[in-house]
Amino acid sequence: MNCETDVLVIGGGPAGITFSLMVKKLDPSIQVTMFRPESHSVVYCAIPYAIEGLFEPEKVLKDDAMVTGSGVELVYKKIISIDLLSRKVVTEDGDSCHFRRLFIATGATPARPPVPGIEAENVFTVKTKKDMDCLIDKLNSGVKRAVVVGAGAIGIEQAQAYRARGVEVDLIEMANHILPNLIDTDMSVQAQQALVDQGIRLRLGTRLDRLETAGALVTRVVLDNGENIELDPAYDFVTVCTGMLPDIQLFHDQGLAVSRDGILVDACMRTNLPEVYAAGDCCAFFSGIDGKPVAGKLATNAVPMGKIAARCMLGQPVEHEGFINGAATCAGPYRVGGTGFTEAEARRRGFAIYTGYGNTTSFFPMMPGTTEVLVKIVADLATDRILGGQVVARTPTTDKVDVITLAIQQKLTVQQLARLSYSAQPWQSFLPARNPIVEACETALSGKNKQAAA
Ligand SMILES: Cc1cc2nc3c(=O)[nH]c(=O)nc-3n(C[C@H](O)[C@H](O)[C@H](O)COP(=O)(O)OP(=O)(O)OC[C@H]3O[C@@H](n4cnc5c(N)ncnc54)[C@H](O)[C@@H]3O)c2cc1C
Repeated sequence: MNCETDVLVIGGGPAGITFSLMVKKLDPSIQVTMFRPESHSVVYCAIPYAIEGLFEPEKVLKDDAMVTGSGVELVYKKIISIDLLSRKVVTEDGDSCHFRRLFIATGATPARPPVPGIEAENVFTVKTKKDMDCLIDKLNSGVKRAVVVGAGAIGIEQAQAYRARGVEVDLIEMANHILPNLIDTDMSVQAQQALVDQGIRLRLGTRLDRLETAGALVTRVVLDNGENIELDPAYDFVTVCTGMLPDIQLFHDQGLAVSRDGILVDACMRTNLPEVYAAGDCCAFFSGIDGKPVAGKLATNAVPMGKIAARCMLGQPVEHEGFINGAATCAGPYRVGGTGFTEAEARRRGFAIYTGYGNTTSFFPMMPGTTEVLVKIVADLATDRILGGQVVARTPTTDKVDVITLAIQQKLTVQQLARLSYSAQPWQSFLPARNPIVEACETALSGKNKQAAA
């Protein structure tokens, strides 16, 4: 196949799909050709629950009719080389395609810490359908013990999935608490305990030093605090969940501006090269709070980036205001969400901050099944602007996280968010007088002077 297309899309994840559908929606006459090697796109967020066995693994696969039905041509091939000058790509089987405009959405690949033994055969990462299938196979084949490295959202979700399948799990995290990019130490207590209650052995404040192997298989996990974890190489395994690296090797020596975190794009998702756009996990981007570089490899970032890229490519003047990074996960019965900067991250970025807490209930206190809802607000001492928020509850946190995200996006102050107009009903919320976000703002304001003096 040798093709010519107007818009060539590399990648069929959330960024590639959203971009392509938006281009077709805005102008169905534009020819869009998407290249993607996998037979299906995957809902990655659902992988831990497929591994746990909550549903058939095939349910994580997306239906391509959504893409092809819009008139996008989908080519199931990997691109192995690109020439951005002559505007041509070559696929692994030697086919080529010329394009006028390019959208790069190649995503990211799990990073492996550079320690001895990391490439052993029983060391896994979690991203693709193949990864999921390998992990399910291992869990179906007599595994007794698994070691998960990294207690971010992906790591804790993996640890819980294996535990639910009856496996002994050690979870290693170099920070002194779980979910260090999402919540502060003080908000991690319940979630951490919930992992321990499930029987997960948490090893905090320690790094993976090396993986000792026999042949091609890990037999011992050695931590930098001197502890060892013995594995039966015939069955046991290690899963590494230590972050993602942008998939951008294809563009080396092509004049594309990149940083360690990905392709550099402006607020319109334009790269430094004409008619070349990029979005999603393959990009480095900036914070919507302080305008400086920030991580944010999330589907909820890839989707709006894809929409903006499509509009900009077609001449509509829209701009992304920067990542806020609202996100959530689960730890046992707890739902844990965060947005903006944690207290620790805000301090690292040079803010003097103050904080406040709301501690209310999921429903009116007299209603059966009511549980605690804890909210933390982080604010800038100099301007009172909301910098971040965290929510821990046994009920969904994403609604509250999104309210705080909107406050951050709109650059609201603590005083303004404290005047939030909200709803209340016995089965659906806290008491009318006890909105947890408002309460967190009010306690922040009443403690501000004391915290400023400290
Ligand atoms: C286990 C897991 C759980 C997650 N949970 C959440 C969550 O709960 N919430 C959330 O917001 N985010 C979550 N994420 C992150 C989210 O999945 C990613 O941020 C999102 O998929 C990024 O979308 P993307 O389109 O940029 O890249 P990807 O989804 O990675 O897609 C990249 C595509 O590019 C293709 N590609 C790469 N190179 C080439 C090439 N040379 N030729 C052709 N095609 C190529 C790939 O094969 C792939 O199809 C999770 C991720 C994982 C792994």
